[in-house]
Amino acid sequence: MSNSIYPWQESSWQQLQTLRQRMPHAILFHGAAGIGKSDFIERFAQGLLCEAVLPDGHACGACASCGWFSQQNHPDYRRVRPESMEDEPPAEGEEGEGETKKAAKSKTPSKEIKIEQIRALADFMNISTHRQGLRVVVLYPAEALNMPASNALLKTLEEPPPGTVFLVASNSLDRVLPTILSRCRKFALPMPSHAEALAWLKEQGVADADSWLREQGGAPLAAMEQAESGSREDLETLLQLLAHPSIEGALKVADKLQKVPLSGTVSWLQRWLYDVFSYKLAGNIRYYPRYQKELAGLADKIHVSRLMAAIKGVNERRATSDHPLSPKLFLEEMLLDYANCCA
Ligand SMILES: [Zn+2]
Repeated sequence: MSNSIYPWQESSWQQLQTLRQRMPHAILFHGAAGIGKSDFIERFAQGLLCEAVLPDGHACGACASCGWFSQQNHPDYRRVRPESMEDEPPAEGEEGEGETKKAAKSKTPSKEIKIEQIRALADFMNISTHRQGLRVVVLYPAEALNMPASNALLKTLEEPPPGTVFLVASNSLDRVLPTILSRCRKFALPMPSHAEALAWLKEQGVADADSWLREQGGAPLAAMEQAESGSREDLETLLQLLAHPSIEGALKVADKLQKVPLSGTVSWLQRWLYDVFSYKLAGNIRYYPRYQKELAGLADKIHVSRLMAAIKGVNERRATSDHPLSPKLFLEEMLLDYANCCA
């Protein structure tokens, strides 16, 4: 595990170090998805726990504490995130996780942070720290907390246990309970400039970095994830249809993309419609500049009220895309709607 943060986070890192003298008991880091917030707060957590922290606030990477941290078994550290973000089922022997583990085998992993996960923190916070230092809890994304879990967390934040620091990250503050927001010190993490993000992606060896980056709205980690998932071909299949809509094409593409994660396909369409809309209103294209000709043609042709209805329709579908009865039917309906809107 490297000690480094991303190049666009340097000034945020320095700013954050000034808080260390009077550490707030909860900090809520916020910013767009895919800019590296969780990596940033994990680095900060390691720095807080390190027993030989460097002058710039980075962890030494060599002490006992850093060793545990990189093995993900530091006794004074907990990371809370939805099951869907874990690579493997949670470790055995922790309270409340037996059921979660069983559930993980039988159905798709939860995208929510559940109350059991917050309750499990109570035990952790009730025992004294192993290293006589801080206890650190990292939690993300905050918007994944379901209502009971939010309320449980709020109780903890209202009566913060001594020596415990909560580092929470969120992609959208308006989806976090206001009472939780009010208990946290807010800290904004920036979106890198296009040039900065592009340079970084190229350094990582991402081919076609510029397209990936634009398609993810400038968020470099999201761009890298998409590039690595190898879905370029699927995206092109969809974009070709969106550029040249037809009923027959819609049915074919729905058949072809039925195994692709739906939420991704829905956001590709959302971005496409956003581009048509923004081109119509302001002559700008954000996500798919290489389709300028087709986007301009559609912007010309589709009436603004139809376009707004289409955007609204797709946004509503986004909400149900996690659990469709039939992915193929879901796609057919969505793409036929689109084709009709363009007709
Ligand atoms: Zn260390």
